[in-house]
Order: sequence, then structure tokens, then C-alpha cells
Amino acid sequence: MSRYQVQRVLLELTLSLETLQAVKGRLQEAMAEGLSRQTHARATVQMLPTYICSTPDGTEKGDFLVVELRRSHVRTLWVTLAGDGNQSPQLQDQLFDMPEDITQGKGEALFNFIAQCLCQFLDGVCPGDPQQRLPLGFVFPFSCRQTRLDQGELIAWSKGFHCSEVEGQDVVQLLQAAINKQERYHVDVVALMNNTVGTMMSCSTEGMPCEVGLVIDVGTNSCFMAEAWHVEMAEETSGRMCVNTEWGSFGDNGALSDVLTCYDQRVDEESAKPGEKRFEKLVGGLYLGEIVRHVLAKLAAEGALFGGGGVPVLGTKDVFKTQQVLEMIDDEAGLATARSTLQALGLAPSEQDCCHVQQVCRAVVTRAAELCAAGLAAILSHMCQSRELEQLKANVGVDGAVYRGHARFGEILQRVTKLLAPECIATLIPSVDGGGRGAAMVTAVALRLAAQRREVDQLLAPLWLSPTDLQHVQALMRQEMELGLAQDTNVQASVRMLPTYVCGTPDGTERGDFLALDLGGTNFRVLVVHLAQDGIHMVSEIYVIPLAVMQGTSEALFDHIIDCIVDFQQKQGLTGQRLPLGFTFSFPCQQLGLDKAVLLSWTKGFSVSGCVGHDVVQLLREAAQRKQHCALDVVAVVNDTVGTMMSCGYDDPNCEIGLIVGTGTNACYMEEMKNVGTVEGEEGRMCINMEWGAFGDNGCLDDIFTDFDRLVDEQTINPGKQRFEKLISGMYLGEIVRYILLALVEKHILFRGKPSPKLQTRDIFQTKFLSAIEIDGLGLRRVRAILQDLELDASFEDSVLVREVCQAVSLRAAQLCAAGLAAVTEKMRESRGLAQLAVTVGVDGTLYKLHPRFSQHLQRTLQDLAPRCAVTFMPSEDGSGKGAALVAAVHCRATRPPGPLPPPQPQ
Ligand code: ADP
Ligand code: MG
Repeated sequence: MSRYQVQRVLLELTLSLETLQAVKGRLQEAMAEGLSRQTHARATVQMLPTYICSTPDGTEKGDFLVVELRRSHVRTLWVTLAGDGNQSPQLQDQLFDMPEDITQGKGEALFNFIAQCLCQFLDGVCPGDPQQRLPLGFVFPFSCRQTRLDQGELIAWSKGFHCSEVEGQDVVQLLQAAINKQERYHVDVVALMNNTVGTMMSCSTEGMPCEVGLVIDVGTNSCFMAEAWHVEMAEETSGRMCVNTEWGSFGDNGALSDVLTCYDQRVDEESAKPGEKRFEKLVGGLYLGEIVRHVLAKLAAEGALFGGGGVPVLGTKDVFKTQQVLEMIDDEAGLATARSTLQALGLAPSEQDCCHVQQVCRAVVTRAAELCAAGLAAILSHMCQSRELEQLKANVGVDGAVYRGHARFGEILQRVTKLLAPECIATLIPSVDGGGRGAAMVTAVALRLAAQRREVDQLLAPLWLSPTDLQHVQALMRQEMELGLAQDTNVQASVRMLPTYVCGTPDGTERGDFLALDLGGTNFRVLVVHLAQDGIHMVSEIYVIPLAVMQGTSEALFDHIIDCIVDFQQKQGLTGQRLPLGFTFSFPCQQLGLDKAVLLSWTKGFSVSGCVGHDVVQLLREAAQRKQHCALDVVAVVNDTVGTMMSCGYDDPNCEIGLIVGTGTNACYMEEMKNVGTVEGEEGRMCINMEWGAFGDNGCLDDIFTDFDRLVDEQTINPGKQRFEKLISGMYLGEIVRYILLALVEKHILFRGKPSPKLQTRDIFQTKFLSAIEIDGLGLRRVRAILQDLELDASFEDSVLVREVCQAVSLRAAQLCAAGLAAVTEKMRESRGLAQLAVTVGVDGTLYKLHPRFSQHLQRTLQDLAPRCAVTFMPSEDGSGKGAALVAAVHCRATRPPGPLPPPQPQ
């Protein structure tokens, strides 16, 4: 009879795997609510940010103080870390009994008491130099709303504390003020934390960080390293941050109702705060004994235990201690403990009674461990998902009397966690002195990070441009533009402002078939472009220009080009047809007519002899003659910027600016003829190829160049040239990043200062990696993988830092580009006498198109710098191919059927 009653109770306390899965799921939902800014206020699981953004890496070094506030003690510690991987921290500590009345009195008295304990401790330790500033970590095991690592308001007292005037106050300030008032030692409270965080931090080993902390003591709580951008209550978006789950309150909204038994209800009703901390009341050591007591009381009342009849002693609160419960579950000594425990309560248990009591204790402990496992599984799965991993390996630091009380607890925790989160491999590590050593670790890491932050800031500061800096760049660009446009050739402007002889943009009525060549981009291409009523159709072929040709003679280059044209015509069945040809030639040229362009200098890795100073159209025609290829009708030679503007202009008549941000950078725009001093004629407009990549070659930008820019410049084939381009374009951004990373390694901030031979390799860090690394919300694991592909063994924090460097470099590039464009649009607006200018920029270039933030930054900065210009950006599709054909077509439209217009004459 009694056996069935006991069986029934045991069944009530047994949780199926299904239920545990459901609990895990509900906890995950509650965690998501706590993390989200929108739902945080009503969340039962608070998920409080701790502002601890890093775990120890073993380089922590120095002396650290810790004050740990406990239920009835204050513990003070002096910890010395040697920077040896935290192998052998040296530790001195002292325990101070806390008078009961202090926990119930005024807050000020509590903090004064703590400060006095600290001073007394320091007197004994004799820290040598009395002027030394001692960093202190404050372990304060109550829920706090932290806004910084060294700032946190107490939300509410618990664990029997009821000091007045502390709730809602910053406890760091209260402690700091109390210490200062002693006027004895120079102590800086640099970190506030609870013991869960300390537990996690004390379990990190070199090379394997511990990223979850679990405490199952009188109460229970957990923390873990979350992706920072998930922690919406904190402003951090990069990296990770430890979140204090405060999971003890899970279930306060009824989420555990299917788990709770009538015994749990009674425990809750008799507790100090009924209805609160429902999860904790199933798991925490303060309650396990009570649950057992209520079960036994009910069984006894039903006559199933102790020979029937009432057992008044079971009506007394706290007669079973958790430690006893844990001892009673032991296979060997458990029964004897049960007997002696029951006898000590004045009972005379039978053999069977002892057995049944043991079974009840086991059921209660098992249930607690399983619920903990569901909680841990929820955390691990959350981490695994948010890191986009298929499998997560994590170390879990565990501490607390319940966990330590019996090995069985840990065994169940481990086994059930695995069942509930099979995708995660968790290693449980018993924490050694989380409150003390772990807290010192937190403090040390905080100081290490703060020092690092200062160094990183110092290193990156030269890359940060203020609005004033940018306005200055804009003004300089404007000045150089005016100089370049002016007739006066005595003053050499760094911005050449080359006339293109393109005097009109398309109007959409252009028709016919055209050939186009595109030289000067990543690929050399030949195209045939068909302009028709229903749009533009193109066929193109890519041809390789061998390095030997890129750096060979003029004849070899243009012969090669003709060969490619012939091949293309054959393939397209165009042999013998004499189509008008537009030639996109994306190098700086002095143009003397639409089909006459004298090369000024090579850029982008080309260095063909015999070209500079010559008309490239002429060179092409001569090669055609050499090759007896007569069907060549070169109508126009344009630059890729012009082509881009023209191709966008076909769709948007407002498009009067062309911009390239690819391998190099350049811009063109429609200028009033009256402003173009270098070409005769006052009427209409002409497109000006700015060649703005050379902006600053006369030294006017020297103030904003950094050491990194100078290093990049020195290593190029054209040092001192194209200085603006070298701050902005795809060929250089990766190199700038690489030099910054090298400097960070040298300062021992990155890759733990280990030399990284790979990083010494020029161009190893390509600009496309900036794009990949900067993608919003990209998991840091992916950043790490990108770096690993470069054979850079980046830690998690390294990845955060590399990303920050990339962001600084690409942001500056976009801002400088905006400053240049602002000069252009403002000049256009002014010379047209407009209060507001609406203009479209046709843009091309892989950096602009593929970088995740560049275009955004560019547009935002431009708006700030030129608020009276409404600028639309229009990415061009194959501007250099289509554009050249369109220039030819506009020219043919204007000159051929209706009779020639007089083209502007060069001086
Ligand atoms: P070009 O300017 O020579 O016509 P592109 O516009 O294609 O050629 O630009 C090529 C440049 O774009 C390369 O120098 C490279 O550094 C850069 N690049 C390539 N892929 C990316 C990317 N995903 N993000 C940013 N830049 C890139
Ligand atoms: Mg291009």
C-alpha cells in the first residue's frame, strides 16, 4: 500500500524528456525576451548585460584586489597574476564576519563596513608603495542593472539583505565613496560583477576560454558569452558580452506550471517572496530540503511512512538541510545517513522508511539537476545558433554547494544536457574560488582591455576625420578644381580637370550598332553594342593582356589589341563591317578632341613604353594599319568615368556626374564651358575628367596622410603619385589595413604579439576581405574563418579588432570620396546659380558596389557636406562598355545625319 503512494509521489516528481525539452524551449523564449529591447521590461529572465566583453587570455598581469560580499561575511583578497597563462595566481585573503544588523540597516553603514574591512586587510598585506593605485573588483551577488563594467544600480535586495537607500543606486559609487572616505589607500573600483561571472572567468584555461558560468548554491544563476549585438540592452554591437541570465526567476509568469507539484506550491507559499523565483525554488539549495520535507509530511499524513499517524516535526521549516538531502542520495552511505537524520528528528524509521526517504531525496535532486540541464541546454543551443555553428564546444564553469554536494548532480547535469542539446559538447569544469580568483580575473581583463583600448584608439585616431577635416578636404578639392580648370598653366594643380570633348549626355534617342573597347579596368574587353528602341543589347568578350604586354612596348600593346578586335569580329560575324568605335581608355589623358587623347601617365600597374605623350587613338590606328586591318572607325575615346556617366545618362537625364571606385578612383562631371579655361568657347557644357586620384600629389593633403598611408605609398610603383586614390580605392585599402594590423601586432595587441609572417606579405589582405569582414551581423566565427584562410590565427578578440580596423579604413575612404563629390556638386550648383541642385551620380567600381557600408557612408557624408544638393546615386551596369558606345552614338547623332556641329576647338 505505502509502496504505491510513494511510487505516485515519485512519479509526480519525475520529468519526461519531452517535458524537459519543452522547458528548454520555453527558457529559450524567455531568454530571447530578456535580450530584446522591446520585450525586456516584461521578461521574466532578465538577461542583464555585464559589460564583460572578454575572457582571460593568460597575459593578465599585476596586483588586483577583490571584495566579495557574502551572506554573512565580507571577503577581501589580494591576487597577483604573473602573466603566465594564469597558471599560478598568488592569493591572500581574509574573511570578516558581518554583524546581522548591518544587512538590515542603512546602506551607508554596509559600505562603510566593507571599506573598513578592506583597509584592515590592506594594513596586514602591506602593499608597499602607499601611493600605488590598486584596482578592485567588487563581487556583489545581487541583480544589478549595469550600464558599464564599473557602474550598476541595485535592482532589488535578496538573500535576506534589506539595507535602506541602496536600491536604485550605483553600488560601485557607494563603495568607491566609502573607500575614499577612509582616506587610507588609493583603490579604484573598476569592475562590478556577481559570483556567476566570477565562476565563468575562473575556469578559463589558456587556449580554451570558459564561456558559460553556472552556480547552483542556495540559489541558482547562470551567465554566458553572448554575441554582443544580440544584447540589445547594451550599446555594444561588436564582439561578445557576458550576459547574466538571472534565470532563477524563470517561470514567474507561469512557464513552469506543468512542472510544479503541490509540494513546490507549499514551498513557494512559505517562502519570503511567494510567486517569485520559481525556477530557483525547484533547483536551489535553499529549497531542496523543504521540498523533501513537504513530500514526507504528505506521505506521513497519508500513513505511508513512519508507521502512520501525524509527524509534527515535519511541520517545522528547514528541518532538512540540503547537505543532508545530498548525503542521503548516496548509494553506499545514503541509507545510514537517512536513518541517522530521521532519528535526529526524533523519528523511528523502519528499513523501508529509510529506503523511501532516500528515493524521495533522489527524485528531488534528480529533478533539480535535470531542470538545470534544461537551462544549460537552452544556453548552449542559443550560443550554437547565434554563432551559426553546427557544433558548439564549450567549457562550463560550475560552482555551488548543490553541485559540489554530490557527484550525482554533476553526472545527471552532464548526461541530460547532452540529451537536450546534442549539437553541443559541454565540458563541466568545477570552479576554484570563482568569487575570489574569478573576480580578480575579471578585474585584470578589464584593465587589460582598457589599456588596449587606449592604444588602439591612439593608433587609429589619425584615421578619424572630423567634420572640420572633411570640410577642409572639400575646400581644398574645390581650390584644386578651379586651378585645374584655369587657363594659367604656370600653376600646376594636382587635379588635372581634363576636357573630354563630350558636350552632351544621351537623350535616349540614340540608335545603331557600335563597337567598343574597354582598356584600363580589371579586364580588357571588346564589345558590340546595339542601341535600339527596346533598349541596349551588348555582346562582349574578355581578353587577357599578358603582363609582358602590360609592361612592354607600345607596338606590342596595340598590336595585341587589334588581334583581339579581329578575333572578336570573326566570332561575332562582323568581319568587314566598319562600325563606329568608342574606346574606353581609363588612364589620364590630355584630350585634344573627341578622338584625340594624349596619354599623360600610366596608372594601375601599366607601364608600356612609347605611349606617354602620344595620342592613343593614333597608336591604335597605326597598329590597324600595320595589321592591315582597315575597318576601324574610331569616333571617340573616353575615360571610364565618362562612360559611366553616359551609360547612366541614357536612363536618367539628370546624370551629370560619373564616379569610379574600383581598382582606382576618379570622377567626371558636366562643367559650364565658360568655366573651362583650357578649351575655347563659352556656350554649353563639357564633361571634365577630373583625374581626382592625383588630388594631393602637390602636398595639399599631407596633413591627413597617416604613417600607414605613407608606407603603402612607398611600396607602390608610383610613389608620391595618386595620393587621394591611395586613400580610397580597392587597390590600396587592404594594404592600409595590413600595415595597421602589423603595427597592432608589434604593440602586442593583436595575435598576442606573435609575429605573423603571412601578414608581412604584400597585398595578402585584399580589399574584398574588408567587404567580407564588415558585413553587418556577420558572426565572428566567419570573420575568424576569413582570417584563418589568410593563415592568421585570430582569437575571437583579434577578430573584433581586425573588423574595427577595416571599418576605420573603409569609413575614411567613403568620407574622403564624399568630400571630393561635395566639392563637385557644390561647384555645379553655384555655377548654375541654383539654390538647390538635383543631380544624379552614375557610379561604377566593385568597391562601391560590393562593400557593405561604403555607399551608405558616402551618401550620408555627402549630405552633411553639401546639404543644398540632392544627390541620387545610380550604379552603372557596364558603364565602360556601354558608355563608350553611347559617346560614339551621341556624337553620330549630333554630327552625322543633321550635319556637323562645330566641335569646340582646343587652344
Ligand atoms: P576596375 O576599377 O579595375 O574597373 P573593379 O571596379 O572591378 O575594376 O574594381 C576592382 C577592385 O575592386 C579590385 O582592386 C579589388 O580590390 C576591389 N574588390 C574586389 N572585390 C571586392 C569586394 N568584394 N569588396 C570591395 N572591393 C572589392
Ligand atoms: Mg572599371
